[in-house]
Amino acid sequence: MREHKNIVILTGAGISAESGIDTFRSAGGLWEKHRVEDVATPEGFARDPELVLRFYDMRREAIQTKQPNPAHHALARLDADWAGELLIVTQNVDDLHERAGAKRVLHMHGEHLNAWCTSCDVRSPWTAPLIDRPPCPVCAARTLRPDVVWFGEMPYGMDRIYAALRTCDLFVSIGTSGAVYPAAGFVQNAVELGADTLELNLERSQGSGMFHQTRLGPASELVPAWVEEMLA
Ligand SMILES: [Zn+2]
Repeated sequence: MREHKNIVILTGAGISAESGIDTFRSAGGLWEKHRVEDVATPEGFARDPELVLRFYDMRREAIQTKQPNPAHHALARLDADWAGELLIVTQNVDDLHERAGAKRVLHMHGEHLNAWCTSCDVRSPWTAPLIDRPPCPVCAARTLRPDVVWFGEMPYGMDRIYAALRTCDLFVSIGTSGAVYPAAGFVQNAVELGADTLELNLERSQGSGMFHQTRLGPASELVPAWVEEMLA
């Protein structure tokens, strides 16, 4: 591949799986034994808010016991040392990129460690449970919900993502199946705009055919090796 200056990196479940974080698997339609319609849609929340709040309380508590792995650390190093533009777009709602030290991170599906107040529309850092309906730190309304993008809701930061894709000359996808839009369209977008594209994944994905190059293996091995190449 030629020299690159501006990079967009998309990360997905595969990078957090090696830190022991289970994520929604579309194949079975289940997340920790719950139906996706029940815990990851606005309708499910309206139907049974206690179930949904309890579910995310458990997830929020669980991720705080997990640690970033070598793939997160390698990306944080790239972020720190890369002189050009760089944006890590993550589909993950954990904070492992940040805890590894990465700064240029965009959470397109929200974050477990934020609570979103539907009264004042402010998102506040949040590590405690929501089940007891604590007051919003800004407006005191008891209308906090998980700041996680559910099915049927608009992902965050799409304008910023597409702007970064327009100017990038390298798009890298790490640990994501390439099956869920709009993220699945990013590689297509990047190719059309003339960027080189690289996929790092455990196994071939539905989107593999779209990439100029695919490397297969665990993220904790592939990502540090790739970052070494980039910074060499
Ligand atoms: Zn509020």
